[in-house]
Amino acid sequence: MLPAAMPNLLVILDIDGTLIRSTRVDDGVIAAAWADLHGHAIDTNWSRYRTSTDRGIAREILGERLNRPSDDGAITQVEDAILGRYPADLRLEQMPGAQRLVSTLRALPGVGVAIASGSFPRTARLKLGASGLHVDQVPKAFSDAHDERAGVIEAATRLACAEHAIAAFAARVYVGDGVWDLAAARSLGIGFVGIGDGAAAERLRAAGATRVLPDFADLQRALDTIFTAALVREEAA
Ligand SMILES: [Mg+2]
Repeated sequence: MLPAAMPNLLVILDIDGTLIRSTRVDDGVIAAAWADLHGHAIDTNWSRYRTSTDRGIAREILGERLNRPSDDGAITQVEDAILGRYPADLRLEQMPGAQRLVSTLRALPGVGVAIASGSFPRTARLKLGASGLHVDQVPKAFSDAHDERAGVIEAATRLACAEHAIAAFAARVYVGDGVWDLAAARSLGIGFVGIGDGAAAERLRAAGATRVLPDFADLQRALDTIFTAALVREEAA
């Protein structure tokens, strides 16, 4: 199924808004946790922050907006508050075709799969569990690896290289739903596939994304789009 000229490829997937529909729940939970903990009404337009991970954003809010300590202990307190705000009976929808895409990619020779999420690790695992997505075997990196999304992608890449016992993948593609995901792919000079429909797709296209899918329901189209993106490096605008 891979084009003959395709070198070994690592497909790196975001979680929220990409593999599972969790962004609406997340926004409410995160805002409520900040209100509980610091009485602060946070801006949930994540594109307005410098960093694009839960940890980086928490550090920004604490240090720059609230002028409070932003050490690891203070950030763990934020993570605890957010984790405690998810309902006990949380159920999240998988993005159509997500499970089949992950399983298909993992079965292809020459292709690696990894997850790079900006979520806190404990909330990410909670959300994955609530979605029923089976990705136990997939190497995963979260915001505890790095405050910047690009740093999390690099951490996920190192885990995937270790899994496949190789020094590097010849090509990488990041699949994500945020304009910050495109920015991270550009900063690393790797391929990008955007996930979104309607206004979200328009935001990605306006930021310069040339490959945007609504979801993975059309498996062949998703694979073709990812493989094509692997042959093109995103460049800083
Ligand atoms: Mg996302």
